[in-house]
Amino acid sequence: MQEVKKIENGIIIDHICAGKGLELYSLLKLDSIDCPCIIIKNIDSQKMGKKDMIKILDKTDINADIIGYFCPNITINIIQNKNISKIFDVKPPKYIKNIVFCKNTNCITFAEPEIDHIFKLIDPQSRKYSCVYCERIRQ
Ligand SMILES: [Zn+2]
Repeated sequence: MQEVKKIENGIIIDHICAGKGLELYSLLKLDSIDCPCIIIKNIDSQKMGKKDMIKILDKTDINADIIGYFCPNITINIIQNKNISKIFDVKPPKYIKNIVFCKNTNCITFAEPEIDHIFKLIDPQSRKYSCVYCERIRQ
């Protein structure tokens, strides 16, 4: 874990479900940022067995809603001047907007391309979301 010590300013997204790191990387559009970024796969974790981790250098803001939607148990560490300035557990957001899209072809979101794709959290335990227009459930 030497890289952790070297981070002066950055973000560590920890406790990502094993094998999901790359998916989260593209969901956060990290391929389009200029900052150095590391994905570490299948690290041993006491809590989870195996986990993935993402480290982003020189960046301290992140869309926590996307992360909360994505995977339970994730923690975000914000590092400033080599110290962890903030650790937070991510909760699934009540609403997610334009992150995922409804798959129901009869949904108004198919007919109206300009409309926002909004999903509502209907079960925080299983993190189930449904489309606010047609109520189709998204797993
Ligand atoms: Zn829908």
